[in-house]
Order: sequence, then structure tokens, then C-alpha cells
Amino acid sequence: MTARAAHKSIRVGDDGEAWIEAYRCDACGAVVGEPTLACRNCAIRAAPSAFRVAERGMLYSWTVVSRSYPGVVVPFVSAIVDLDDGPTMKGTLRDVDPDTLASGMPVAVRFDDAGGAVDKEGAAFVGFHFVPAGETL
Ligand SMILES: [Zn+2]
Repeated sequence: MTARAAHKSIRVGDDGEAWIEAYRCDACGAVVGEPTLACRNCAIRAAPSAFRVAERGMLYSWTVVSRSYPGVVVPFVSAIVDLDDGPTMKGTLRDVDPDTLASGMPVAVRFDDAGGAVDKEGAAFVGFHFVPAGETL
């Protein structure tokens, strides 16, 4: 049974490998997160090409969530990350002390089981979160 993506930008191969997909205009290089029929930047009438996004980026902004729905462990860090290939994504930043966060901090994408969620046929979902990447990128 093939796992399902828990986010519209996640693709899951038949072997279960996951990646983030975005679309780049072949004419001007603008990147968008969803397929379009024409470029929103330069207006060329050619669909931007799909590509596999690098799984690293830099922390753009964040908030520490201290109150949530029952069953959601708080506090957690909700982050906005500029991925190296252009797209910006929002997700949870784990394994970090909120007091050490700084704009521009390198982070990496990690795929996960979306909290153990399954669809009605029992297929697992694939989600993602961010982790600090250190200074070695
Ligand atoms: Zn363009």
C-alpha cells in the first residue's frame, strides 16, 4: 500500500521515498508551489516545470505555540522556512530550544509519519517537519 502525502507539495514514490515538489518557470526562473498554466512572474504562457526541492533552507520567521487543541503537545515551534531552491514552507521546527532561534538559522526537512495518521484504507500518510541543520550546510 502506497503512503499518501499529508501536504500538497509532498510527493511519495512507489518505494515510499518522499520529496517536496515545486515548479520553476523555464523562462525567468520564478518558483511557485503549485502547478500553473502560465508563469505568474513573467506571464509566459508555458507551464512551469516540476522539480525536486532541496531539503534544506533558512529559518525566516517563527512563533512558539503554547496553547493548542487537546492532545497536541505544547509548546512547539511553528516556523516559516525559505528553502534553498526558492519555495517558502510553513511547518513545525523540532529538536530546538526556542530561546536559540534566530532568523537565517539553517534548517533541514525531515519526513515523518504525520503523527501516525492513516486513511480509511489504512494507508499511512507522509508529513514533514524541520530540524536545526547546524553550520555544516
Ligand atoms: Zn516566468
